Amino acid sequence: MKAIVMMRGKSGAHLLDLPKPKLTRPDEVLVKVKEAGVDGTDYNMIKHNLQDIAEGRNEIVMGHEMVGVVENVGRKVMSVSPGDTVVMTVRRGCGICHPCLHNQSDMCMTGLFTERGIHKRDGYFTEFVVDQEQYVVKVPANLAKLAVFTEPLSIAEKGIAQLRTIQSRFPWTCGHPEHDFLAADWGGCKTALVLGAGPLGVLAAALLRLAGAYTFVADIVPENSPKARLVKQMGANYVDARGKKPKEIVDFCCGSSSQLDIVFEASGAAVTAVKLVNYMSRSSIYVMTGIPQKELLIQVDAAQLVRQIVSYNQVVVGSVNSNRSHFEMALKDIPVINSRFGGLLEKMITHRFKLQDHDQIFSATDETRIKTVIEIEAS
Ligand code: BGC
Ligand code: ZN
Repeated sequence: MKAIVMMRGKSGAHLLDLPKPKLTRPDEVLVKVKEAGVDGTDYNMIKHNLQDIAEGRNEIVMGHEMVGVVENVGRKVMSVSPGDTVVMTVRRGCGICHPCLHNQSDMCMTGLFTERGIHKRDGYFTEFVVDQEQYVVKVPANLAKLAVFTEPLSIAEKGIAQLRTIQSRFPWTCGHPEHDFLAADWGGCKTALVLGAGPLGVLAAALLRLAGAYTFVADIVPENSPKARLVKQMGANYVDARGKKPKEIVDFCCGSSSQLDIVFEASGAAVTAVKLVNYMSRSSIYVMTGIPQKELLIQVDAAQLVRQIVSYNQVVVGSVNSNRSHFEMALKDIPVINSRFGGLLEKMITHRFKLQDHDQIFSATDETRIKTVIEIEAS
């Protein structure tokens, strides 16, 4: 079967022929991959030649976002059967720490986890994959066409879940009990800024909009670009951050209210991300999800930064990866987001490729590119 891989000692993405995986344990599922999503991590792996290949192997199959159809199951598998549409999670726990032993490998304490398509384990830019039932999540049949968004949306779901849990430290900010962080309409009377209008930023903004937050999304593309149009289609405001200082971005969002309750970083633009901490509001939360690569040095006034975070009761929290529970949340929200925001998810897919197009998939991206999907036809 064909697979897009990174190879030890070589840069770039390569197409290889690998043996089709087989079921070897009674709790395993064999899945035929139908579509795989490409995201910033994949582009970074190629651009910066980030290789984390398992010992004894010369290649790693790329890709960590997928939807597929079950082809065969081991005799102990109960939750899925051949013909079912499924998605698969990314991280496989260390098997040692408490979170990993309790279905929360996204919170692994040892760092000894692996990740399909990223760290030491083959991913989903291929025709067939095998994994244990616990990592395979059944998709309602009517969602097959949109389920490729489950993994990226699960990352946004986790970030938002973290912020709601942490912010439930105080009851509500506006006098409306229904806007309590643990209530369904928690976003009401709150202002949020998302940094980055890539797929993750757009999906995070969609969740913020569903919760009723007054939402801004900042990126460095013009107002009339496809990304900015998607942002506006959700009833969020687009901020063209080109040439704007972090303070100007915040002022633009807050206007006269001057309270910015939530910042959700989904761009990996480290300098802007760090400078923005200086403009956080009282009792606000800043969720960081972008993972920058190269070194970037800046000067900060450490005393001012610490004084501000303490005196204003602020929280800066990092959020990485997602577990099965976030995949389940994502599958619930996919149809809601898509219908509420005029087919948003379909419109996000701007490019479709085949495995054989591996060169074009990673070649320079332009600002019209939002989500790239690889359509996989088993040979
Ligand atoms: C993936 C996560 C993963 C992270 C770091 C992201 O692109 O969506 O599942 O944990 O990269 O490897
Ligand atoms: Zn662990």
